[in-house]
Amino acid sequence: MRTKIVTILLIFIAVAVMAQEDESMKMIPEMTEIWDPEVSKITPGKATTDAPSDAIVLFDGVNLESEWTNDNGEKPGWIVADGCVTVSKGTGIIKTKRVFEDFQLHVEWRSPSEVIGESQGRGNSGVFLQGIYEVQVLDNYNNRTYKNGQAGSLYKQHPPLVNACKAPGDWQTYDIIYTAPRFNDDGTFFTPPTVTVLHNGVLVQNNVKLRGPTEYVGIPEYAVKKHGPGSIILQDHGNPVSYRNIWIREL
Ligand code: MG
Repeated sequence: MRTKIVTILLIFIAVAVMAQEDESMKMIPEMTEIWDPEVSKITPGKATTDAPSDAIVLFDGVNLESEWTNDNGEKPGWIVADGCVTVSKGTGIIKTKRVFEDFQLHVEWRSPSEVIGESQGRGNSGVFLQGIYEVQVLDNYNNRTYKNGQAGSLYKQHPPLVNACKAPGDWQTYDIIYTAPRFNDDGTFFTPPTVTVLHNGVLVQNNVKLRGPTEYVGIPEYAVKKHGPGSIILQDHGNPVSYRNIWIREL
């Protein structure tokens, strides 16, 4: 009988101690609050298309030469006038002097108001991420082409979710969020590049994975090679496409 009482007493004490411990283990809201280090303060642009205070302005509509060269590292051959820069056919690409890994990029582009050509021949240019992954620039306002090559596509890899093109002659925006690939020792992707694109504020690429560098002919993954940071390149496809207000935020 006595043993029984002692056992019951011990169980009672154990339960009481556990209950007390439980009470002390109970989460309170403050336990999951993180205060430090404080998030950096920046000043956003007046409009969402304006560069915020932590952006690098790559082209302000006037000065191209401070941030851009042609493919040979010389003065770009494109024409700067009226607050924008326009492809000068045959002068080749232009590329940033700086190189980038992960970033948020804002680009404004305009296909010619005079409509010439069709399919891939109308207002074709492109924004190449790290110099080798193309976000297609094309006038697809009432202009069909293969869908994985239309405006807002990751060329020959991912068609855009919708066609958000404005009319030729209208300024359009791309906001591109890019995560560079990480590589295995053998040069294959450990994680592939991923890209999100908003075209005129509309989501057209939702964190898609690239198979490899952009290829006009052939299979992208065959061209995967280990690489470091790369330039932003704008394509000369022979059509007088214009660009303005280009800025980037490194992530
Ligand atoms: Mg192109």
